[in-house]
Amino acid sequence: MRRRKTVFVDSDILVIGGGMGGCGATYESRYWGRDLKIVCVEKANIERSGAVAQGLYAINCYMGMQWNENQPEDHVRYARNDLMGLVREDLGYDIARHVDSTVHKFEEWGLPIMRDPKTGRYQREGKWQIMIHGESYKPIVAEAARKAATEVYNRIMVTHLLMDKTRPNRVAGAVGFNVRNGNFCVFRAKAVIVAAGGASHIFKPRAVGEGMGRTWYAPWSSASAYALPILAGAKMTQMENRIVLTRFKDGYGPVGAYFLHLKTYTENAYGENYEPTWYEHTRQLVGNYVDRHPVPTCLRNHALLEEVKAGRGPIRMVTKEAFQDPHKETVGWENFLGMTIGQAVVWASQNIDPKEINPELTTSEPYVMGSHATCSGAWASGPEDCAPAEYRWGYNRMMTVEGLFGAGDTIGGTAHKFSSGSFTEGRIAAKAAVKYVNDLGNDQPQVSEAEYEDLKKTVYKPLENYAVGRNEIVAGTVSPSYLLPIHGLQRLEKIMDEYVGGIGAHYTTNEPLLTRGIELLGMLKEDLAYLGAEDLHQLQRAWELQHRVLASESVTQHTLFRTETRWPGYYYRADHPKLDDKDWHCFTLSRYDRDSGKWEMEKAPVYHIID
Ligand SMILES: Cc1cc2nc3c(=O)[nH]c(=O)nc-3n(C[C@H](O)[C@H](O)[C@H](O)COP(=O)(O)OP(=O)(O)OC[C@H]3O[C@@H](n4cnc5c(N)ncnc54)[C@H](O)[C@@H]3O)c2cc1C
Repeated sequence: MRRRKTVFVDSDILVIGGGMGGCGATYESRYWGRDLKIVCVEKANIERSGAVAQGLYAINCYMGMQWNENQPEDHVRYARNDLMGLVREDLGYDIARHVDSTVHKFEEWGLPIMRDPKTGRYQREGKWQIMIHGESYKPIVAEAARKAATEVYNRIMVTHLLMDKTRPNRVAGAVGFNVRNGNFCVFRAKAVIVAAGGASHIFKPRAVGEGMGRTWYAPWSSASAYALPILAGAKMTQMENRIVLTRFKDGYGPVGAYFLHLKTYTENAYGENYEPTWYEHTRQLVGNYVDRHPVPTCLRNHALLEEVKAGRGPIRMVTKEAFQDPHKETVGWENFLGMTIGQAVVWASQNIDPKEINPELTTSEPYVMGSHATCSGAWASGPEDCAPAEYRWGYNRMMTVEGLFGAGDTIGGTAHKFSSGSFTEGRIAAKAAVKYVNDLGNDQPQVSEAEYEDLKKTVYKPLENYAVGRNEIVAGTVSPSYLLPIHGLQRLEKIMDEYVGGIGAHYTTNEPLLTRGIELLGMLKEDLAYLGAEDLHQLQRAWELQHRVLASESVTQHTLFRTETRWPGYYYRADHPKLDDKDWHCFTLSRYDRDSGKWEMEKAPVYHIID
């Protein structure tokens, strides 16, 4: 096999992933750590990477404290309500109290935020959302990170974290490979902040074949945010809390501006308002959570799913009325042009003019993420001044592994942070990480040469498998001695879809299905040793698959552990169809032991610190 060059990079703080959380972490690390070496490593290019790559039309988390619009406590209540009672209130409060200052920075850096012509305030789309001209949102944010970082390494896929030679529960850096020149990279760091986004393509998507890349969530979000900490032994929380989105059919165009700003509404195929039909039924499942305002996102999905199951689909968004107003029509189209151009193209290709036809809605396949309307992720230590003692074992946003921090989709328990909240959480984590590094003194982590040399062999194994086995192809791309990443991905998606509650199973599962799903995932994991990669691009796909499989295993274990249906509309445990506050008003926690391959599950209490 070709010898690969090893490149060593030393840093005080290593930020993995240069999306919203990572840019926030890089920026703030420099503020508190003027003389520190701050390195940001990204598998794409931070200029246009992560979920915000295409731009956004709204910043979904802004309090507006300068105008007394909302207070941080209000946001905690809102997120708690939407997540059916279960959020880390300390972490959510911490973000909410700082998020406005982040948004003011974005404006200072050149992000055009729309203003209400009457009040002069930011134009509200909804209670928490403000409207932006956000096509260039990501480059604007990335510029701040670039200027703050000592070095940004683009095009490097991080595959594993490195652990300290002497203290096994302490992080010492990370390894990865350059997806363009194939160099092996060893990053030695005193503290690591993981901000590597969420996970798409772990469940079978609705769009397959030629449309496979068309998912709501960015197809390049490949679960590294979860797999990296899981492999390092960090505790995870709420991994069962996958998200399902109601979106415009086939293009997954966002509906927020339509509901909130254009005041459009939904109806069934016969023009009826179907949500009241399911009120009593939903009440029996979840009690008075159905009476909360606003109605939790999962319960709105639930009504839609039940209506479709009852045979009265498709569900449509009534746009014909709003689009008669030329201003609203412009806003409706611009909403897509700033963030999901594909939806406009889908409508054009399907002869849908929303002024003439009410477009169909559908529910997406499930995704895993910690920053939107769900809160899967790592279990993190909370802020000194407001976290209950049980949630505080170290520095703010440090995981249960020493020196390992996280932000954005990585950190669990804190839904509704969105782009601005993820950047803010990056800032919070960075401030704490700088303190951690300064407190280390001479007690610094040491990387083991044996560990990274072993990992080097592991990382390039798929290239070797391919080189050795490629002459044995029996037909097309089928080989008896290796598995291509796309084959592994499709197998994963099928397992998750059929056994863990994907679209093909109407989001429904039960203990026997989950148990079998775990067995099948175990067999898939065995076969991952035989992944074959034709080139560096496929090598990246191979490692993305490894990360997706590990995160999927975690999702499955958590779903099995929580014997209730907490979020109907996101998923259903058919053997435990009701919400059960008596036994399950708690967080689920897991810890993976990479030597034995076993998962340890436990419950953690939910403390309500806001009334
Ligand atoms: C479709 C969609 C629409 C949204 N709409 C809105 C909206 O209107 N308003 C709003 O405020 N928020 C919105 N959000 C939410 C917002 O985009 C996220 O909350 C935010 O981007 C999360 O930040 P993050 O840093 O955790 O992840 P990301 O911003 O996705 O960044 C993760 C980064 O990590 C990199 N990475 C991943 N794996 C690796 C690896 N192994 N090695 C190196 N780098 C890696 C990725 O390339 C990426 O750059 C939306 C999200 C989605 C998916």
